[in-house]
Amino acid sequence: MKKEQPNSFVIAEAGKCIGCKACELACFAVHNRDNGVAAAVGTVTTPVIPRLYVIRTDSFTMPVQCRHCENAPCAGVCPVQAIVQEEGAITIDEDRCIGCKACAIACPFGAISLYKAYSNGQEHKQPYLRERLDGRLERKTRVIAYKCDLCHDITNSGNIASGEIAAAAAVNNSGTPSEGGGEPMPACVSVCPEQALKLVSQSLGASRSRKAAGLRL
Ligand code: SF4
Ligand code: SF4
Repeated sequence: MKKEQPNSFVIAEAGKCIGCKACELACFAVHNRDNGVAAAVGTVTTPVIPRLYVIRTDSFTMPVQCRHCENAPCAGVCPVQAIVQEEGAITIDEDRCIGCKACAIACPFGAISLYKAYSNGQEHKQPYLRERLDGRLERKTRVIAYKCDLCHDITNSGNIASGEIAAAAAVNNSGTPSEGGGEPMPACVSVCPEQALKLVSQSLGASRSRKAAGLRL
């Protein structure tokens, strides 16, 4: 029987994170490289919308993002089947999403946020629902769910580690190369100046834990 490979995910080490938000900016940059707003890292009309969120408490700061659950509860509650497993990642089909917020409520990690949808730097208007603004009825902007997709499209094309993403590289002030010996890494992992983020994959995670267990014997 073919062995099922668990999904990879990115995890952060709170003790290392300095709360600089380079990961948030790099995330936004790589997901917007084709619509003309990444170079400016957000514009007047397009706010920075990351897919991971740096949280702060009195004692620590660290990014939180999707764990790419094997039995993803977010997918189970989506009424339009917009959330699917795709080549080792749980992804949201943004065209299909109706912004109902069910997934955001179901996610135990708070990894999903809803924001306006943008297309080519412009708010993406919906065809039917209108809102009254200053006495006029105008088409309402679509609101959709955003979350980490492990840089799915970009890492599959193998471009992150090659430094194609100028904005991501610009915020990596340590100049450290991405982890993984040239293997494409999610932008947040590549750009963190403190190496606080790690991609945990089946091969890396399992072999490290077995090695650690062996050393304890
Ligand atoms: S968004 Fe939340 S529930 Fe869905 S796969 Fe990610 S961590 Fe799991
Ligand atoms: S917000 Fe979008 S992705 Fe989330 S459950 Fe609703 S339709 Fe599905």
